[in-house]
Amino acid sequence: MSGQLKIRVAKGAGFCFGVRDAIAKAKETAQEHGKVYMLGDIVHNERVVAELEQDNIKVVDSLDQARDAPVLFRAHGTVPELWKKANEKDLTIVDATCPLVHEIHDEIRKLHEEGRKLLIIGDHGHDEVIAIQAQVPDTTVIATIEEAKQVPRIKKAGLVSQSTQMIENVQEILGILSMKIFDLRFVNTVCFPTRRNQDEIKSIAPISDVMIIIGSQTSANTKRLLEASLRLNKNSYMVETAEEVDPEWFKGASSVGVSAGASSPDDLIEEVVEQLKHINVKMEV
Ligand code: SF4
Repeated sequence: MSGQLKIRVAKGAGFCFGVRDAIAKAKETAQEHGKVYMLGDIVHNERVVAELEQDNIKVVDSLDQARDAPVLFRAHGTVPELWKKANEKDLTIVDATCPLVHEIHDEIRKLHEEGRKLLIIGDHGHDEVIAIQAQVPDTTVIATIEEAKQVPRIKKAGLVSQSTQMIENVQEILGILSMKIFDLRFVNTVCFPTRRNQDEIKSIAPISDVMIIIGSQTSANTKRLLEASLRLNKNSYMVETAEEVDPEWFKGASSVGVSAGASSPDDLIEEVVEQLKHINVKMEV
């Protein structure tokens, strides 16, 4: 006897509110002014960027290419230098920085005012981390437990995190640093949509036969969700499109859990779920 897979979709899968709001602002601005420019992709998802391009939301490399329409500063924050340059050039700035990213900037500035050595748990070279670093002088970015072990003893330090870090990574790094730093003030800046997404994986992955994580290969956040899922369910796979779902993965399976990185649009999640509905699995009688 064959039947359909039981499909569990994480409620927080896909775009976080910060990305949703940034896309809405970009669309509104493009409608009002004919077009809008962005320095880099609004999310790490080629399909979303291509669709936005059709709505006259243009990606440019420098402010010099953005003379005849407003420039939108993206959800994950922009370095103060670019704010200054855009103001000097008299460009119209649309600030789509997520309020939770603004909060991280405020927190690291407060830690700086307290005279602390500044530490950031995050990915080296990620745009959000670069913008956090640029709020204050002299920061150290710690991406891994090994890097945390290399940090020397410090008298007084402040620690924040990139918004999309894995909670476990943050906890382990914090544990190591707290043994080396006499006066450490940690502000937990992993954002709540990220925490919810990670929590949902933890509840769905152990009770599903297969896990599908939707997102782009270029999205660090999606890769992290896959890692979290793999820890709890070795039958976890990442797909960029519905076509990549392989029926072979579902041999002997009766259930599948679905989550998606913060850069995956709703219609892509729906397409993958639709594809999963068409997979026939053998049912025990
Ligand atoms: S991941 Fe979190 S901090 Fe970043 S844009 Fe989304 S809601 Fe904001």
